[in-house]
Amino acid sequence: MHGILFDLDRTLVDVQSYTDYEAALRDVERLVSSWPDPPTPETGWDGPTRQAMGILVGLSGDPRWEEISDLIERHELAAVARSVRMPAVVEALAAVERHPKAVVTLLPDGAARAALDRHRIGIDVVVPRRADLRPKPAPDQILEACRILGVAADRTVMVGDSSWDHAAARAAGVGFVGVTNGRPSEFPPGVTVVETLGGLAELIG
Ligand SMILES: [Mg+2]
Repeated sequence: MHGILFDLDRTLVDVQSYTDYEAALRDVERLVSSWPDPPTPETGWDGPTRQAMGILVGLSGDPRWEEISDLIERHELAAVARSVRMPAVVEALAAVERHPKAVVTLLPDGAARAALDRHRIGIDVVVPRRADLRPKPAPDQILEACRILGVAADRTVMVGDSSWDHAAARAAGVGFVGVTNGRPSEFPPGVTVVETLGGLAELIG
């Protein structure tokens, strides 16, 4: 049985569009003035979102990481009440009902679970951003999800809306399905892409 891993933000629920990452950055910049910014895949996020995620990648392993993540989380949690469910989530979850599944997200645990609860998405295994795992686009979160589910990476598929999900999936050796949700595809040629999660049923079923 294939394991299915879902990205959360803009794959299952859009929290990102309602998160004030600009304010989050101002909070973080009171704590740290500079940070490493290693190269990450091009993605369609706006500047503040990309910068906030870049800080979490660049300072992964830094003793201040958790404090920084908490500062950003306050803004993400505030956005959950305004968040919206992405199209065809209910159909997709019905199609993969019998598969072991998890959410692998750059959101922290509290905000991720609040978003899933609010939109009644019953996936219990969540691998959020955490101090002890390098965030996507590194493979760590995906490999941790495979470990928890007890599924082999080569029998697992990651479903996500961004090039960071795709890069993490490749690095972890799991399959990948991109979902565009009406945005331009940011995936390289050859990647399986569906327009909404409704397309997942035919692919995985
Ligand atoms: Mg996403």
